[in-house]
Amino acid sequence: MSNLDYYDGVVVDIIKETPNIRRFYIQVPELDVYDFKAGQYVKVLFPIDSKKNYRQYSIANSPDGTNIFELLIVLNPDGVATNYLFNEVKIGSVLKVSEPRGNFLAPQEVETDVCMICTGVGLAPLRSIYLDILNRNVKNKHIYLIFGTRFMSDLIYVEEMEALSKRSDFTFIPVLSRETSDAWHGKRGYLHNSYKEIFANKPDANFYICGWRDMVTETRNNLLEMGFKRQQIHFERYD
Ligand SMILES: Cc1cc2nc3c(=O)[nH]c(=O)nc-3n(C[C@H](O)[C@H](O)[C@H](O)COP(=O)(O)OP(=O)(O)OC[C@H]3O[C@@H](n4cnc5c(N)ncnc54)[C@H](O)[C@@H]3O)c2cc1C
Repeated sequence: MSNLDYYDGVVVDIIKETPNIRRFYIQVPELDVYDFKAGQYVKVLFPIDSKKNYRQYSIANSPDGTNIFELLIVLNPDGVATNYLFNEVKIGSVLKVSEPRGNFLAPQEVETDVCMICTGVGLAPLRSIYLDILNRNVKNKHIYLIFGTRFMSDLIYVEEMEALSKRSDFTFIPVLSRETSDAWHGKRGYLHNSYKEIFANKPDANFYICGWRDMVTETRNNLLEMGFKRQQIHFERYD
Protein backbone atom coordinates (compact mmCIF):
# COMPACT_ATOMS: atom_id res chain seq x y z
CA MET A 1 0.00 0.00 0.00
CA SER A 2 1.44 3.41 -0.90
CA ASN A 3 1.29 6.47 1.34
CA LEU A 4 -1.38 7.88 -0.98
CA ASP A 5 -3.82 5.29 0.29
CA TYR A 6 -3.70 6.57 3.87
CA TYR A 7 -6.49 8.73 5.24
CA ASP A 8 -6.18 11.51 7.77
CA GLY A 9 -7.62 10.10 10.99
CA VAL A 10 -8.52 12.65 13.65
CA VAL A 11 -8.30 11.44 17.25
CA VAL A 12 -11.69 12.52 18.62
CA ASP A 13 -11.51 10.84 22.04
CA ILE A 14 -9.07 8.97 24.26
CA ILE A 15 -10.24 6.85 27.20
CA LYS A 16 -7.75 5.66 29.82
CA GLU A 17 -9.04 2.12 30.27
CA THR A 18 -6.32 0.90 32.68
CA PRO A 19 -2.97 2.42 33.72
CA ASN A 20 -1.36 1.04 30.52
CA ILE A 21 -4.26 0.56 28.09
CA ARG A 22 -6.03 3.35 26.19
CA ARG A 23 -8.97 3.43 23.82
CA PHE A 24 -8.39 5.78 20.89
CA TYR A 25 -11.44 6.92 18.87
CA ILE A 26 -10.46 7.94 15.35
CA GLN A 27 -12.63 9.76 12.83
CA VAL A 28 -11.96 9.83 9.08
CA PRO A 29 -13.69 13.09 8.03
CA GLU A 30 -13.22 12.54 4.27
CA LEU A 31 -15.42 9.40 4.45
CA ASP A 32 -19.12 9.20 5.34
CA VAL A 33 -18.58 5.66 6.53
CA TYR A 34 -15.33 3.90 7.46
CA ASP A 35 -16.42 0.60 5.95
CA PHE A 36 -14.77 -2.34 7.70
CA LYS A 37 -15.65 -5.92 8.58
CA ALA A 38 -15.68 -7.05 12.22
CA GLY A 39 -12.26 -8.48 13.12
CA GLN A 40 -10.18 -6.38 10.70
CA TYR A 41 -7.23 -4.16 11.56
CA VAL A 42 -5.90 -0.82 10.41
CA LYS A 43 -2.32 0.23 9.66
CA VAL A 44 -1.27 3.46 11.37
CA LEU A 45 1.70 5.44 10.02
CA PHE A 46 3.97 7.08 12.59
CA PRO A 47 6.63 9.78 12.31
CA ILE A 48 9.01 7.59 14.32
CA ASP A 49 12.61 6.51 14.12
CA SER A 50 12.05 2.80 13.46
CA LYS A 51 12.83 0.28 10.69
CA LYS A 52 9.08 0.10 10.04
CA ASN A 53 7.06 3.34 10.01
CA TYR A 54 3.69 1.69 10.61
CA ARG A 55 2.04 -0.55 13.19
CA GLN A 56 -1.14 -2.60 12.84
CA TYR A 57 -4.05 -2.19 15.28
CA SER A 58 -7.24 -4.24 15.41
CA ILE A 59 -10.49 -2.32 15.28
CA ALA A 60 -12.21 -2.85 18.63
CA ASN A 61 -15.78 -1.83 17.76
CA SER A 62 -18.23 -3.47 15.38
CA PRO A 63 -19.29 -1.84 12.10
CA ASP A 64 -21.82 0.90 12.93
CA GLY A 65 -22.21 2.92 9.73
CA THR A 66 -20.16 5.90 10.99
CA ASN A 67 -16.73 7.23 10.06
CA ILE A 68 -15.38 6.69 13.59
CA PHE A 69 -13.60 3.56 14.77
CA GLU A 70 -12.02 2.52 18.06
CA LEU A 71 -8.56 1.12 18.84
CA LEU A 72 -7.53 -0.57 22.10
CA ILE A 73 -3.80 -0.14 22.64
CA VAL A 74 -1.42 -1.27 25.36
CA LEU A 75 1.70 0.73 26.12
CA ASN A 76 4.89 -1.23 25.46
CA PRO A 77 7.29 0.64 27.81
CA ASP A 78 10.17 0.10 25.35
CA GLY A 79 8.01 0.44 22.25
CA VAL A 80 8.51 3.25 19.78
CA ALA A 81 4.99 3.61 18.37
CA THR A 82 3.08 3.11 21.60
CA ASN A 83 5.27 5.65 23.42
CA TYR A 84 4.45 8.10 20.61
CA LEU A 85 0.73 7.30 20.97
CA PHE A 86 0.69 7.62 24.75
CA ASN A 87 2.96 10.67 25.03
CA GLU A 88 2.47 12.74 21.87
CA VAL A 89 -1.05 11.98 20.64
CA LYS A 90 -3.86 14.08 22.11
CA ILE A 91 -7.50 14.70 21.22
CA GLY A 92 -7.37 16.58 17.88
CA SER A 93 -4.11 14.95 16.73
CA VAL A 94 -4.12 13.56 13.19
CA LEU A 95 -2.82 10.05 12.44
CA LYS A 96 -2.40 8.54 8.98
CA VAL A 97 -4.63 5.43 8.89
CA SER A 98 -5.07 2.83 6.16
CA GLU A 99 -8.20 1.27 4.79
CA PRO A 100 -9.27 -1.78 6.84
CA ARG A 101 -7.29 -4.95 6.25
CA GLY A 102 -7.06 -8.60 7.30
CA ASN A 103 -8.91 -11.87 7.05
CA PHE A 104 -9.60 -12.58 10.72
CA LEU A 105 -13.31 -12.02 10.27
CA ALA A 106 -16.59 -12.53 12.06
CA PRO A 107 -18.40 -15.64 10.86
CA GLN A 108 -21.35 -15.03 8.54
CA GLU A 109 -23.25 -18.00 9.86
CA VAL A 110 -22.19 -20.32 12.69
CA GLU A 111 -24.33 -23.06 14.02
CA THR A 112 -21.89 -24.20 16.67
CA ASP A 113 -20.68 -22.72 19.93
CA VAL A 114 -18.15 -19.93 19.45
CA CYS A 115 -15.23 -19.83 21.89
CA MET A 116 -13.12 -16.68 21.96
CA ILE A 117 -9.78 -16.82 23.74
CA CYS A 118 -7.50 -13.83 24.29
CA THR A 119 -5.16 -12.03 26.63
CA GLY A 120 -5.13 -8.25 27.20
CA VAL A 121 -5.67 -6.12 24.09
CA GLY A 122 -6.12 -9.32 22.07
CA LEU A 123 -9.71 -8.64 23.07
CA ALA A 124 -9.96 -5.89 20.42
CA PRO A 125 -10.93 -7.90 17.30
CA LEU A 126 -12.86 -10.43 19.37
CA ARG A 127 -14.98 -7.63 20.81
CA SER A 128 -15.64 -6.40 17.29
CA ILE A 129 -16.64 -9.94 16.27
CA TYR A 130 -18.91 -10.74 19.22
CA LEU A 131 -20.66 -7.36 19.05
CA ASP A 132 -21.20 -7.99 15.33
CA ILE A 133 -22.54 -11.51 15.97
CA LEU A 134 -24.92 -10.17 18.62
CA ASN A 135 -25.99 -7.13 16.52
CA ARG A 136 -26.62 -9.22 13.42
CA ASN A 137 -28.28 -12.06 15.31
CA VAL A 138 -25.95 -14.52 13.61
CA LYS A 139 -27.27 -17.98 14.35
CA ASN A 140 -24.97 -19.59 16.87
CA LYS A 141 -25.42 -21.67 19.96
CA HIS A 142 -23.44 -19.84 22.59
CA ILE A 143 -20.50 -17.43 22.80
CA TYR A 144 -17.81 -18.06 25.41
CA LEU A 145 -15.22 -15.36 25.97
CA ILE A 146 -12.17 -16.53 27.91
CA PHE A 147 -10.11 -13.47 28.79
CA GLY A 148 -6.73 -13.74 30.47
CA THR A 149 -4.88 -10.95 32.17
CA ARG A 150 -2.77 -10.47 35.28
CA PHE A 151 -4.58 -8.34 37.87
CA MET A 152 -8.10 -7.07 38.60
CA SER A 153 -6.82 -3.62 37.66
CA ASP A 154 -6.09 -4.93 34.13
CA LEU A 155 -9.74 -5.82 33.44
CA ILE A 156 -11.18 -3.84 30.50
CA TYR A 157 -14.69 -2.97 29.28
CA VAL A 158 -15.86 -3.97 32.78
CA GLU A 159 -19.42 -2.63 32.55
CA GLU A 160 -19.93 -4.15 29.11
CA MET A 161 -18.69 -7.52 30.34
CA GLU A 162 -21.03 -7.38 33.34
CA ALA A 163 -23.96 -6.66 31.02
CA LEU A 164 -22.96 -9.43 28.59
CA SER A 165 -22.60 -11.90 31.47
CA LYS A 166 -26.33 -11.52 32.16
CA ARG A 167 -27.24 -12.79 28.67
CA SER A 168 -28.23 -16.42 28.38
CA ASP A 169 -26.23 -16.82 25.12
CA PHE A 170 -22.92 -15.37 26.40
CA THR A 171 -20.48 -16.59 29.06
CA PHE A 172 -17.64 -14.31 30.12
CA ILE A 173 -14.74 -16.07 31.88
CA PRO A 174 -12.01 -13.73 33.13
CA VAL A 175 -8.90 -15.53 34.38
CA LEU A 176 -6.28 -13.66 36.42
CA SER A 177 -2.74 -15.03 36.49
CA ARG A 178 -1.18 -12.91 39.24
CA GLU A 179 -3.98 -11.54 41.40
CA THR A 180 -3.51 -12.23 45.13
CA SER A 181 -6.45 -10.20 46.50
CA ASP A 182 -9.32 -12.06 48.24
CA ALA A 183 -11.65 -9.58 46.55
CA TRP A 184 -11.28 -11.63 43.35
CA HIS A 185 -13.82 -14.46 43.28
CA GLY A 186 -13.21 -15.52 39.68
CA LYS A 187 -10.75 -17.94 38.12
CA ARG A 188 -7.00 -17.74 38.75
CA GLY A 189 -3.99 -19.06 36.88
CA TYR A 190 -3.73 -19.40 33.11
CA LEU A 191 -6.64 -19.45 30.72
CA HIS A 192 -5.90 -22.81 29.11
CA ASN A 193 -7.70 -24.89 31.76
CA SER A 194 -10.96 -23.06 31.05
CA TYR A 195 -11.43 -24.07 27.40
CA LYS A 196 -10.00 -27.53 28.08
CA GLU A 197 -12.75 -28.11 30.67
CA ILE A 198 -15.65 -26.55 28.77
CA PHE A 199 -14.88 -28.04 25.37
CA ALA A 200 -13.66 -31.50 26.42
CA ASN A 201 -16.88 -33.02 25.04
CA LYS A 202 -18.03 -30.40 22.52
CA PRO A 203 -16.33 -31.34 19.25
CA ASP A 204 -18.35 -28.91 17.09
CA ALA A 205 -17.11 -25.59 18.50
CA ASN A 206 -15.36 -22.84 16.49
CA PHE A 207 -12.47 -21.02 18.16
CA TYR A 208 -11.27 -17.44 17.68
CA ILE A 209 -7.92 -16.69 19.33
CA CYS A 210 -6.04 -13.39 19.49
CA GLY A 211 -2.93 -12.18 21.26
CA TRP A 212 0.86 -12.48 21.31
CA ARG A 213 2.73 -15.40 19.77
CA ASP A 214 3.24 -17.69 22.80
CA MET A 215 -0.38 -17.66 23.91
CA VAL A 216 -1.72 -18.18 20.39
CA THR A 217 0.71 -21.03 19.64
CA GLU A 218 0.04 -22.81 22.94
CA THR A 219 -3.74 -22.49 22.55
CA ARG A 220 -3.71 -23.76 18.95
CA ASN A 221 -1.53 -26.73 19.90
CA ASN A 222 -3.79 -27.61 22.83
CA LEU A 223 -6.91 -27.44 20.65
CA LEU A 224 -5.33 -29.59 17.95
CA GLU A 225 -4.32 -32.12 20.62
CA MET A 226 -7.91 -32.12 21.87
CA GLY A 227 -8.94 -33.22 18.38
CA PHE A 228 -10.26 -29.96 16.88
CA LYS A 229 -9.57 -29.49 13.17
CA ARG A 230 -7.53 -26.59 11.77
CA GLN A 231 -10.63 -25.16 10.06
CA GLN A 232 -12.27 -24.79 13.48
CA ILE A 233 -9.40 -22.68 14.82
CA HIS A 234 -9.21 -19.04 13.64
CA PHE A 235 -6.50 -16.78 14.98
CA GLU A 236 -4.82 -13.36 14.80
CA ARG A 237 -1.26 -12.97 16.07
CA TYR A 238 0.11 -9.63 17.20
CA ASP A 239 3.81 -10.41 16.64
C1 LIG B 1 -2.66 -7.72 12.95
C2 LIG B 1 -2.16 -7.02 14.21
C3 LIG B 1 -3.06 -6.36 15.02
C4 LIG B 1 -2.60 -5.73 16.19
N1 LIG B 1 -3.52 -5.13 17.01
C5 LIG B 1 -3.11 -4.55 18.16
C6 LIG B 1 -4.08 -3.95 19.05
O1 LIG B 1 -5.29 -3.96 18.79
N2 LIG B 1 -3.60 -3.35 20.17
C7 LIG B 1 -2.26 -3.32 20.49
O2 LIG B 1 -1.91 -2.75 21.52
N3 LIG B 1 -1.33 -3.89 19.68
C8 LIG B 1 -1.73 -4.49 18.52
N4 LIG B 1 -0.79 -5.04 17.67
C9 LIG B 1 0.64 -4.86 17.99
C10 LIG B 1 1.12 -3.53 17.42
O3 LIG B 1 1.11 -3.56 15.99
C11 LIG B 1 2.57 -3.17 17.86
O4 LIG B 1 3.40 -4.28 17.66
C12 LIG B 1 2.63 -2.78 19.33
O5 LIG B 1 1.78 -1.65 19.57
C13 LIG B 1 4.05 -2.43 19.77
O6 LIG B 1 4.52 -1.36 18.98
P1 LIG B 1 5.72 -0.45 19.51
O7 LIG B 1 6.25 0.33 18.35
O8 LIG B 1 5.30 0.30 20.73
O9 LIG B 1 6.77 -1.51 19.95
P2 LIG B 1 8.05 -2.01 19.14
O10 LIG B 1 9.14 -1.03 19.35
O11 LIG B 1 7.68 -2.38 17.75
O12 LIG B 1 8.18 -3.34 20.03
C14 LIG B 1 9.25 -4.18 20.04
C15 LIG B 1 8.83 -5.65 20.15
O13 LIG B 1 8.00 -5.95 21.27
C16 LIG B 1 6.90 -6.79 20.89
N5 LIG B 1 5.81 -6.44 21.80
C17 LIG B 1 5.29 -5.21 21.95
N6 LIG B 1 4.35 -5.21 22.93
C18 LIG B 1 4.30 -6.47 23.42
C19 LIG B 1 3.53 -7.11 24.44
N7 LIG B 1 2.62 -6.43 25.18
N8 LIG B 1 3.74 -8.43 24.67
C20 LIG B 1 4.62 -9.14 23.97
N9 LIG B 1 5.40 -8.59 22.97
C21 LIG B 1 5.23 -7.28 22.70
C22 LIG B 1 6.65 -6.46 19.43
O14 LIG B 1 6.07 -7.53 18.70
C23 LIG B 1 8.08 -6.19 18.95
O15 LIG B 1 8.71 -7.40 18.60
C24 LIG B 1 -1.23 -5.71 16.51
C25 LIG B 1 -0.31 -6.35 15.65
C26 LIG B 1 -0.77 -7.01 14.53
C27 LIG B 1 0.23 -7.71 13.64
